[in-house]
Amino acid sequence: MDTGLFLALLNPSIALVLAAAFGALWAYQKNRSYLAVLAIGYVATAIGFLLQHFVQPLGLKASQIASSLAFMVAVCLISGAIVSRYRNRLPLVGIGIAASVGAALYGWFMFVDQDLIRRILVLNFAFGAISLVVAAELWGVRKRGPAETVLLVLSLLASMNFIVRTLIVLKIEGPIGDHQGFLHSTYWTTAMLSHAVLTLMLALCLFTAAALDVVAALRSDSHTDALSGLFNRRGFEEQALEALARCAPTGLPVSLVLADLDHFKAVNDSFGHAEGDRVIANFAGVLRRVAGTQGIPGRIGGEEFAVLLPLADLAAARLFAETVRAGFGLSESGGMRVTASFGIAMLSHDEPLHRLMQRADDALYRAKQSGRDGVRVVYERSALSTRVDLGGRG
Ligand code: GH3
Ligand code: MG
Ligand code: MG
Repeated sequence: MDTGLFLALLNPSIALVLAAAFGALWAYQKNRSYLAVLAIGYVATAIGFLLQHFVQPLGLKASQIASSLAFMVAVCLISGAIVSRYRNRLPLVGIGIAASVGAALYGWFMFVDQDLIRRILVLNFAFGAISLVVAAELWGVRKRGPAETVLLVLSLLASMNFIVRTLIVLKIEGPIGDHQGFLHSTYWTTAMLSHAVLTLMLALCLFTAAALDVVAALRSDSHTDALSGLFNRRGFEEQALEALARCAPTGLPVSLVLADLDHFKAVNDSFGHAEGDRVIANFAGVLRRVAGTQGIPGRIGGEEFAVLLPLADLAAARLFAETVRAGFGLSESGGMRVTASFGIAMLSHDEPLHRLMQRADDALYRAKQSGRDGVRVVYERSALSTRVDLGGRG
């Protein structure tokens, strides 16, 4: 097979495969529009490369212009897509200036002062500048993980490839003759090979980043309760265990509040299941507001909730529960008065989570026994394993 043709087809093939792959990823996650933009960007890349080699249909000049335009569109789209994954605001000014200055000078050296070498230079400088804008944006990302660091390095490499490689190769190679001379030039061969390598590395990195996004979303879904927006039992236990592992060595207090809506079966029976759901969501909202950023609230059963309160002793936890109880009472107006009962326990030394939950549940049981709509606190001295009920009707 003709090596020239093989090389010419290498980049369009890679670009089209990547376009299909990013398009398929986007079809599964339509909310991540940067994946669709990447797919379109790679289609434009493929068109750009094909038009350089196959000039017959459009004619030489039109093919060259259309190819350069396709490359410009591709660089802008792919750069914008990369940045938009991390930043809310796109660097439109930076990309816009580089692209329009590049396009204007390209037009000048195409129509007014026809000069192939200068056209090559201005296009590559524009692409290099856009890659530098991407690198600067990634540099500004606050939490830079491995994927972001690799993307940053690749953006810098791409800009070096566009600017430094072009300058060195053109200097060594000297003047390029006609279009055939261009296609067989060292400049174009190195451009095709370096582009193929960089594109594959970049795409691998973007795929990894997109896959990590999907894993994070799935993980969050499997740990979140849809009705209340709080952690579900699984999510709550995972977060609580992490918090206990952080807090336990410090010896600082940690408390757990369990809450259960009172006579909820009757609420459903009287007002309907949908209204019951609304009450659950409303109670969850009160819990979330009062818990703030410190507490970890979860819906651990139908109308049962748990809140782990790091740095809270029994008094602070009790204040928390009373605030929720009062807040919930205020929010449920309009004929229906729904109340909740609360049980509280404070972590004792080396106590596992399930034991802490068991003790808080005992306190909750007492709150129910004492007529509901109240807060009960249980204190257990771990050495003696005797329970002293400090609670009272709230
Ligand atoms: P108690 O004061 O003893 O807690 O009485 P209760 O009626 O609240 O307790 P019980 O455990 O007998 O009933 C709980 C009810 O909560 C039964 C169930 O229909 C209702 N429930 C559980 N999950 C949901 C839910 O997601 N939506 C609605 N609307 N109701 C739910
Ligand atoms: Mg109940
Ligand atoms: Mg219950």
